[in-house]
Amino acid sequence: MNSLSSINNAAFPAFRSENFYAICCHKLQALQNLIGSIVQPIFDQFYLLYDSIYAKNGVTGKREFWLIPNWLETLIGNLSYPFVCYAYGPQSIDQEKIALVTKVFSRLVTVARKYQGSNFEYEIRIIESNVPNAFALPGGKIGITTALIERFETMIKNIQADNKGTYPKEWKKLKIEDLIAATLGHEIIHAAAGHGRRSIESLLFIHICILIIQILCSFLSSNDRNERSSKHPLFKIIHFLISQIQKSNAIQHMILKPLSEGLLDLYMLMNSRKNEYEADYYGIHHIYEAYFHVLGGSAIAQVFVEMGFDFHRSLSFLNYFKELFSTHPLPRNRLQKNNETAKEIFEKNGHYQKSYQK
Ligand SMILES: [Zn+2]
Repeated sequence: MNSLSSINNAAFPAFRSENFYAICCHKLQALQNLIGSIVQPIFDQFYLLYDSIYAKNGVTGKREFWLIPNWLETLIGNLSYPFVCYAYGPQSIDQEKIALVTKVFSRLVTVARKYQGSNFEYEIRIIESNVPNAFALPGGKIGITTALIERFETMIKNIQADNKGTYPKEWKKLKIEDLIAATLGHEIIHAAAGHGRRSIESLLFIHICILIIQILCSFLSSNDRNERSSKHPLFKIIHFLISQIQKSNAIQHMILKPLSEGLLDLYMLMNSRKNEYEADYYGIHHIYEAYFHVLGGSAIAQVFVEMGFDFHRSLSFLNYFKELFSTHPLPRNRLQKNNETAKEIFEKNGHYQKSYQK
């Protein structure tokens, strides 16, 4: 009896709660691993999709719908770059200007690398043109005209020669590099924040909405639907309105078409101005990080005020309407906003410019 008991004990060890607990834990762990190995890749793929469609903007840090992928944005910019540059004029051969702009640009691009998701091949071209302008294409392709650089040179000379207090005394410290940096910083933000992509997406979205409305209208006005839904008073009103619009060419061509086109233009203009203010704000923070003087942003707005792209300050009511129908905010409004941004940086850091140590 004793020997049988000892054999049984060896073959079937006595039940112990801690053994049972260890086995359960082991099984649960295995099950968890199995589910994890199936669910985790699916979850990862969904998160990747979510993160690329409702992506975090590298500049603002806010999430937004990002329907056009980075590679397509870059391709659009690369393809249109030579044509846009050509429309302004030939590339400059002024070695002094090329060296100056390239030096400023490379410092700004180093800072642009910190923007999450912005892996563009930034490029700058200096274009020989008498139109003072700068532009950014999707994907980081940027241009500046020689006429704009010359305006900045004149501005710096005027600031230095000013002894009547025309310009704020802090502007005396500004160099031509700070004005070029403020311009290129603004353009880099346009590219890094995807403003070009955002405009294309907005246009696409609006056109899709118009298409859906048109399909819906033709669906509702079909005879079959008329008969089926004629009992409902709301449908009766909708059918009546749609049928009147369809019958009347005058309503369609003289009221609805111009109205929808006008609203579309207005939306695009407002979007464009929002982008301009955003590029100004983050552009000034950008040049601060690249060790340039932040009041450069105010000085370039002053250059545009002096170029006459503004109404007199007293006509503020007219200014409102002028800005409403302009793709760019009025220079005087930009000057005020840029001053506020520079002040914000000054109050936070105690200076307008970090000391640059190479
Ligand atoms: Zn701009």
